[in-house]
Amino acid sequence: MPTQAPHPLSDIDVLIPVHDIHARVKGIAQDIAADFKDDVMIIPLLRGSFVFAADLLRALHYEGLQPQLDFMTLASYGRGTSSSGEVQLVKDIVESVEGRDVLIVDDILESGRTLTFARDLIKSRGARSVKIAVLLEKPGKRKVAIDADYIGFVVQDKFVVGYGLDYANFYRELPFIGVLMNR
Ligand code: 5GP
Ligand code: MG
Repeated sequence: MPTQAPHPLSDIDVLIPVHDIHARVKGIAQDIAADFKDDVMIIPLLRGSFVFAADLLRALHYEGLQPQLDFMTLASYGRGTSSSGEVQLVKDIVESVEGRDVLIVDDILESGRTLTFARDLIKSRGARSVKIAVLLEKPGKRKVAIDADYIGFVVQDKFVVGYGLDYANFYRELPFIGVLMNR
């Protein structure tokens, strides 16, 4: 594991600025609040979605919801900027989802394998309903047929970092969504 970021911050261009992210998160929270009247269990998939999930949770408060929360860590093994396709459960949720209306939160819907794995697992535990919110969607990359119910932004096929998203576990702290450039 490197202890130094693989690229200087000057190699990262802003793709989605902070203000656009926050405006969109508020919009998603309004859509979610219109669909979930009272009770919702939010399950962010770690680690990439933690910043989005934290902002979304607070935005849901302003829309009048009182969500509950648990976390699941999944890994799709592979190196660098593409995943291999095999999804593994690294850390499970603690709460029961039986009979619950669940909203899975993830950073990016790309091949669809990660979210299919999570959705099927939570359904198999007896959730009453399962919906999906993603910060980003990459169209045309799906290997498995699955759609998100709430989508922040559609991005083209570039490797993005920031706002929780990493490259080699760096750049999660960036407040914007950026693109790594080969300068
Ligand atoms: P998939 O839908 O292919 O199963 O999984 C998408 C996952 O791959 C995301 O949750 C994210 O962890 C990772 N991923 C896909 N595209 C990108 C990207 O552009 N940047 C980063 N940092 N992660 C990505
Ligand atoms: Mg992920």
